[in-house]
Amino acid sequence: MSKKVAIIGAGIAGIATAIRLAVKGWSVEVFEANAYAGGKLSSFEQEGYRFDAGPSLFTLPHLVDELFALAGKSPRDYFQYERLPVICHYFWEDGTRLQAHAQVEDFAQEVAQVLGEPASHIIHFLKDSAFKYEVLDGLFLQDSLHKISTWTSAKALKGYINLPRLGIFGTMNQANAKQFQHPKLVQLFNRYATYNGSDPYQTPATLNIIPHLEYNLGAFFPKKGMVDITNTLVSLAESLGVSFHYQMPVEEIITGEKKVKGIRVKGQVLPFDLVVSNMDVTHTYRKLLPQAHHPNRLLNQPKSSSGVIFYWGMNKTFPSLDLHNIFFSDNYREEFRVMFEEKSLYHDPTVYINITSKYKPDDAPAGCENWFVLVNAPANEGQDWDTLIANLRKNVWQKLARILGEDVQAYCETEAILDPRSIELKTSSAQGALYGNSSNNRYAAFLRHANFSKNFSNLYFVGGSVHPGGGIPLALSSAKITANMIS
Ligand SMILES: Cc1cc2nc3c(=O)[nH]c(=O)nc-3n(C[C@H](O)[C@H](O)[C@H](O)COP(=O)(O)OP(=O)(O)OC[C@H]3O[C@@H](n4cnc5c(N)ncnc54)[C@H](O)[C@@H]3O)c2cc1C
Repeated sequence: MSKKVAIIGAGIAGIATAIRLAVKGWSVEVFEANAYAGGKLSSFEQEGYRFDAGPSLFTLPHLVDELFALAGKSPRDYFQYERLPVICHYFWEDGTRLQAHAQVEDFAQEVAQVLGEPASHIIHFLKDSAFKYEVLDGLFLQDSLHKISTWTSAKALKGYINLPRLGIFGTMNQANAKQFQHPKLVQLFNRYATYNGSDPYQTPATLNIIPHLEYNLGAFFPKKGMVDITNTLVSLAESLGVSFHYQMPVEEIITGEKKVKGIRVKGQVLPFDLVVSNMDVTHTYRKLLPQAHHPNRLLNQPKSSSGVIFYWGMNKTFPSLDLHNIFFSDNYREEFRVMFEEKSLYHDPTVYINITSKYKPDDAPAGCENWFVLVNAPANEGQDWDTLIANLRKNVWQKLARILGEDVQAYCETEAILDPRSIELKTSSAQGALYGNSSNNRYAAFLRHANFSKNFSNLYFVGGSVHPGGGIPLALSSAKITANMIS
């Protein structure tokens, strides 16, 4: 008879782990607190508009494809996506506009034309980004950082040899200011720190690997929206025999001597041979393992940024906007200082707008657009969010009106809001952080929890709060690393 594994949480990492373990012959049951799968990667509808609730940018799609291949299925029969010709439209208050073309040469030419920055600077930067990624992918992203074998491998040796080129010793902003002449370009590439909830003025330049994903490997859009990643993977898991139990919050992990014995759900103890938690690791310890030893140094690390998201149904189309749009703050450094030091929202925030109806018109009524408007925000520490959000809404409307030259607020006919409090409530992420612990220092990779428990030999952890980190690609990598450790 197959051995039984319980997975706590049907986030993208929990689903991917379920698929990988089912393929290995385990009998898999997933317990999810919500009535739906996907955690942050879910969607909802309101007054004729469909919104992807969380992630909007899709990179490294092969990490999804390989789950289908693992199950002996052809990914394209189930899951379709397209590569974006333009990655992002950038806007500044002084009227500067820039299109980040997916073709590196086109982007470099555009930057040369608009900002006067030599095209070679972009080409060189993205080559270096590719190099960093190649070295770090082998070292950090494919294996557990917490096993000796990782540190004695040939991949690690390549990392040691190239240490000075990995950007560990300076900040992202320092590296970008050296690389580029134009402050707007420094700002543009500093933005990539936010992809794992960090501050470019503190995070190491190592994170300059991130632009490689978008420019060299591509940014993509799933044809049925981001939520299709969740939907198709749940169907794949079910076809492999995985059972999903919704509205079943796990209340406790039952422990024995150096092993876990199962879980408690709705007061009932259910025995399992193995438990994998996709719940945020801080809450896994504090809520489900109250009696166990807690690795407090890791759990108490400062958290990554969170976000305030306005979902606006707009009864007009805006031809100057695309799928991904950024409206930059005039004082980026101050914006991050206010977010990470004051734990508040800056009065002139950088605003990100994602409009899936540009690619998937049925996401909004005819002649309308579904705006997902995100402003990076500090993790929840009990701030007066209602006041902060009211001010933010006003500031965002004013900023968009200044830059787009029209009163955009007048076209908004429906609104929903997600904020650090509701992110924590809906997904159990500690303090509503989007990416677990922050990466605002060079040791951050070592200050994330391992994918396994040191105290219980049959307890594992996956997802954005543990190694290797947050974001869809890393959450999927964590599932791979963990499943590879389980025989
Ligand atoms: C607004 C927003 C924008 C983002 N943008 C991007 C982006 O553009 N690109 C990108 O790659 N990433 C983005 N991210 C990050 C990305 O969404 C996450 O890193 C990733 O989805 C995390 O997946 P996960 O499986 O680790 O966890 P989660 O999605 O947090 O899922 C955890 C699941 O566990 C369940 N759970 C928790 N506790 C229990 C319990 N006790 N019992 C049962 N179930 C439980 C929760 O209900 C939830 O379903 C964004 C996130 C947000 C919120």
